[in-house]
Amino acid sequence: MCGIIITILSQSQEVSMFKKIRISGTELCPCNSGKEYKDCCKYKAAKTFHNNNEALHFTGQQMKKSKSKFCLYEGCTQKGKSIIKAHALQENRILSKLANNGKVIMQDFSKDPVILEIKKGQPEPFYFLTEVSISTATTATCFCKTHDDKLFAKIEKKQFDLQTLDKEQRFLFAYKTFSFEFYTQIAAQKFNTLMFSNVPQTTKNPLVVHQYRNVQEKLNDLQYYKMYFDNALKNNDFDGLETITLEIPFEIQFANYMAISPPFDITGKKVKAFDKASKRLKFIFFTSFPVDNKSYILVSALKEDLKYFSKYFETIRNSPLDLVEYYINILIPLYSQNLIISPLLWDKWSEKAQGGVQFAVADPHSSKMMYGVKCYLSQIEKSKQPINVSANDIAFNFFLKP
Ligand SMILES: [Zn+2]
Ligand SMILES: [Zn+2]
Repeated sequence: MCGIIITILSQSQEVSMFKKIRISGTELCPCNSGKEYKDCCKYKAAKTFHNNNEALHFTGQQMKKSKSKFCLYEGCTQKGKSIIKAHALQENRILSKLANNGKVIMQDFSKDPVILEIKKGQPEPFYFLTEVSISTATTATCFCKTHDDKLFAKIEKKQFDLQTLDKEQRFLFAYKTFSFEFYTQIAAQKFNTLMFSNVPQTTKNPLVVHQYRNVQEKLNDLQYYKMYFDNALKNNDFDGLETITLEIPFEIQFANYMAISPPFDITGKKVKAFDKASKRLKFIFFTSFPVDNKSYILVSALKEDLKYFSKYFETIRNSPLDLVEYYINILIPLYSQNLIISPLLWDKWSEKAQGGVQFAVADPHSSKMMYGVKCYLSQIEKSKQPINVSANDIAFNFFLKP
């Protein structure tokens, strides 16, 4: 669900892949009981659903339950009701720009999912991008009111200008992107645990198990960044972050927050960002949003991670804006968890383009689409000649002018 990416496997990877998509009898049961799998869910009777709707409704209920309310600020113990709908869209300076007649387009996890058969015979629950009213929509419930007000004042309160961004503001955007992603992964982990413990047969579904392992790994990877951000906030020290600030000369009609370990760079080259010593993957934070009369794409990484990403940053810095847009345009729907689109942009897209976005959000095999883009980027790089490239070359273009 939600766009996990299974890459095309080579023979040698298939062995480790097999481990990845099944649970061994002696590992801890993923339902979180503390018992070994062979003594727990492995032999439990399957939960029966009478029809698809019942199963979907049940899945939707677990999804709602998984969106816990807590505050990510280190040391804060606020829970439950004191957690505001942290980013009620109507009050949010950036996101209120995207609303049209009080609506935006996003994934709505408060509803039941729909069934989607991406691979024949493997129906999966899925949340389409859909119209959501901004009075009820939230992106994440991961800060208490006090910390949400205090931490993000300099990027959210109107008296602070965003026409030029200072170091602290750039830091805060990256921190916000990190927080959304971290929260998303915590919720995904809780959802997996709830599904495993209530529907034991899901422990035997390779896609679910694969996704469960990915979430665990990503949470572990992101924990490292949690420590960095917590310390930086505590010490008021924003020097540890390197950010490229790209300006687009008009107001884009979407906002997107993604923490990713990019599979390839803007020249189509594979990015190696795995730290063998700590067994952690390194991440970059992308934040794209409109302000008054212009927009930003912020690309941030920890300075200490530049040993993995210096070339990556250099190529972005040296590329024309059109090419950067083309590159980011394909990443957005593939890493779509914190994406908000203006209905005005959505309506400008053809049905084919809308379908393309939904497909990329839904389908793990849209890695094929990504592979196509990768090849195209490396062709451009090899030709050494200026090629006119635009996000228009893909079916959907997030960077259409309003
Ligand atoms: Zn179990
Ligand atoms: Zn708090």
